[in-house]
Amino acid sequence: MLSPRSVCVFLRLSGTGLLSSLILLAGLGCESSKKASEVGSESAQKPAAAGAPAAPTSAVSAPSPVGPELHIDPAKAWQYTKDIVANGPRWDGSPGQKKMGEYIHSKLKNDQVEEDPFVADTPEGKFAMRNIIAKFPGSKDGIIVLASHIDTNYPLRNTNFVGANDGASTTALLLAIADQLRGKKLEGYSVWLVFTDGEEAIKSWSDTDSLYGSRHLAQKWQQDGTAKKIKAFLLADMIGDADLDIFRDMNSTPWLEDVVLQAATRLGYQSYFFAENSTIEDDHLPFARIGVPVADIIDLTYGYNNSYHHTTEDTLDKLSPKSLQISGDVILETIRLINGGAGSGSTAPPQKAQ
Ligand SMILES: [Zn+2]
Repeated sequence: MLSPRSVCVFLRLSGTGLLSSLILLAGLGCESSKKASEVGSESAQKPAAAGAPAAPTSAVSAPSPVGPELHIDPAKAWQYTKDIVANGPRWDGSPGQKKMGEYIHSKLKNDQVEEDPFVADTPEGKFAMRNIIAKFPGSKDGIIVLASHIDTNYPLRNTNFVGANDGASTTALLLAIADQLRGKKLEGYSVWLVFTDGEEAIKSWSDTDSLYGSRHLAQKWQQDGTAKKIKAFLLADMIGDADLDIFRDMNSTPWLEDVVLQAATRLGYQSYFFAENSTIEDDHLPFARIGVPVADIIDLTYGYNNSYHHTTEDTLDKLSPKSLQISGDVILETIRLINGGAGSGSTAPPQKAQ
């Protein structure tokens, strides 16, 4: 069965059959993506040729990274992905999600972890949800947030959809990043890992039926003043794809996207980044709306014409540890660049999400 898309995308390429196919796909059950497309059309840029690094779009002086270079352990990231998939479907209210929550806590048992419970008012009634937040204190005043969603697609709950890429891979990635942060005196900003709940639509993707955990947390952090301290919100989604090609998201903050590309280039991974532009609705939007710099690190060409996305084809055999390594290491390098001052002089206004 065709499911509503949790992440809606419109590519802004010209002259490709892939584009029209994706637009057709993206249009299915995804009303709000049209608005996103219109926003994107104002700012869309010509993509770099495939395989070539896209040029940064704004003048960002090259910062010096702060702190030691860190790399995730791809074997561990892969094991975490397999463990999470082994919990089965993890839609909200499922036994698999409860088990995965316990799994996350077990992997972070020596860290500073808190739960952020809330009740989501959905088209299918009220759901008890919770974000999980792990905090790694830094020595500078300010926070860098790394986020990923922990739920799997709810409308597919009666299938054997396991969300190996869409949910498991990036949850695993955050755990693998935690392994690198743990026990170290971080020289820069604090790093908070946020495992968001309720990213997926319960019935059909809309502004009110999606992003439950991130909308709740953005509102809470706006009210308690935390949002003002967030230097960057980096979101990872669907980056376990063995055929990795990460989009430049036009709903993300341009200078922060530029820093991600700088980090990728420093590591020699630039060919995996930003050959294509897109306009994506995901857990970064609620934070963008309250003025937090955001970047969605996402690959939405998962299988031919994105055909594995939100289908039972989203299984481990489509993923690779190498893709987790690329994304994890680029995120860790991005943190070093932000700690070195990347973006601190930016006058770019908060990105308009819609
Ligand atoms: Zn999804």
